[in-house]
Amino acid sequence: MFKLRKRDVRRLARSLRFRLTVSYALLFLIMLVGTAVVFRAHLASQLKTSAEISLNEQWAAIKGAYLRIEPTPELDNRYAANWYYDTDDADETTQVLNLKRVLLIADEQGHPIPDAVTNQPSVSTIYDDLGRESPAEIRLYVAGARKLAKPPLLWAERRSSKGEPFWIRSGLIWDERHRIPFYISIGVSLAKNQKILSNYTWTAFVVVIPSALILASLLGWIMAGRTLTPLREVAQAAQRVSGSNLSLRIPTREAGDELDYLILTFNRMTERLEASFQQMKQFSTDVSHELRTPITAIRGQLEVALFTAKTTDQYREAMFNALQDTDRLSQIVRALLLLSQAESGQLVLQKTRLNLGDLVRELVEQMQIPAEAAGVHLTADAAGDCFAAVDRVQFERLINNLLSNAFKFTPEGGQVRVSARLSEDHVEVGVEDTGRGIPREHLPHIFDRFYRVTGSGTAPAPEQGLGLGLSFVAWIAKAHGGTVEVDSTPGKGTRFTIKLPIEHQNEGAMELAGQPAAS
Ligand code: ADP
Repeated sequence: MFKLRKRDVRRLARSLRFRLTVSYALLFLIMLVGTAVVFRAHLASQLKTSAEISLNEQWAAIKGAYLRIEPTPELDNRYAANWYYDTDDADETTQVLNLKRVLLIADEQGHPIPDAVTNQPSVSTIYDDLGRESPAEIRLYVAGARKLAKPPLLWAERRSSKGEPFWIRSGLIWDERHRIPFYISIGVSLAKNQKILSNYTWTAFVVVIPSALILASLLGWIMAGRTLTPLREVAQAAQRVSGSNLSLRIPTREAGDELDYLILTFNRMTERLEASFQQMKQFSTDVSHELRTPITAIRGQLEVALFTAKTTDQYREAMFNALQDTDRLSQIVRALLLLSQAESGQLVLQKTRLNLGDLVRELVEQMQIPAEAAGVHLTADAAGDCFAAVDRVQFERLINNLLSNAFKFTPEGGQVRVSARLSEDHVEVGVEDTGRGIPREHLPHIFDRFYRVTGSGTAPAPEQGLGLGLSFVAWIAKAHGGTVEVDSTPGKGTRFTIKLPIEHQNEGAMELAGQPAAS
């Protein structure tokens, strides 16, 4: 039970739907976290700015309205901090008390000056807790600042002993009459800001992002499922395709998308498969048919010999006929074997660089006797150099097959011409005759195995051949990287054109160095 579940989980993790969902959720997570982090930084800077603004306002209020540092008669004319505000006004009182919460007023020696009313040093308890500057530090600052026309402000963040953060602003205030500087520090608590920030962090990272992520994953899962549904349909349809129903085609969704392209490609593949299946079926039917004819004939001859022959001559004739049919049988088997070797790549070509012009002239010379026997006039038309890399034996077989067809299908007194010439980027070898020609509808099939133009549906006469010659021609041309074309006019004649790649001098040397090209 556990094993099964583990396998299921593994299968799920490998599924495209799961991986799509995970990538989608990951992307979403990165975007969410990125946005939240940027927004948090922005919020923090906004909060700091607002704290600064508040401090600036307090500073202005101290300097402009409430505080005056002046010699105080009650304190032996010592400088003291005098706070001027309406004690009956609750607002003003609160504001001044607020100003005094985080405060230090020191003279240029760094010592806090007394409050004019209480005679207590002007340093608040909170400020003390935050860590007061030493007199030496204050002296140093005052000494530096008094030389400048516009002394710099000091900004600092400090923490109380309880960890509460404060934002502190320090600077100078002058006693205008005697030009004496005083050092003042005020501050505001940043605790509220920090609370806002930590609230934001909690809400964003613990509540909003995880829920959004769960929602996005669910949505992603549904979307990925919907996207992949057609793919599943294609897979199911593909599963229904088998050897017996290769005609099945998956309908396209007319969406013009990648999936339609996949379906089209798949359909084309099944089309090709169906064609080769059909060819194979046809081939085995043809082979059995071809083999059955001579076998039936042999059986007939033997029956004649066994049951009806009486004289030696009759026996001999029956035997002779049986022998002829046996020859035809082995001819078929040999040809088939050779063809299947060729098509399965077992027949390796031994290519050498040859002048096809010379070769054509030579072959035409050799074929003069059979041409005469067939009563046709055979000529060669090959001028100049036509070099190509060919397997001599196979090339001779190609020409001989074409010539024997030409002799067979050209009436006495006809012409057969073999030509070789250089064309733009290939060598062109032509075999043309003035024979009976091939009807147009047969042309696409004549290179198929066992295909014979029977004419008005009659069975082929045994002497007509095996219907394998042109299959060889096509294979040999293809194995040489070339093509074969046929052009025929019934009653006038036929021309077969073989185009082979030109072999230049250097490439020829390479071939001769012993690199036979495979088919
Ligand atoms: P076969 O061994 O029967 O000649 P091929 O494969 O060589 O088989 O040829 C296939 C068929 O093409 C032949 O049966 C014949 O009808 C036709 N054919 C081939 N060459 C010619 C030609 N030169 N003129 C007319 N028909 C031809």
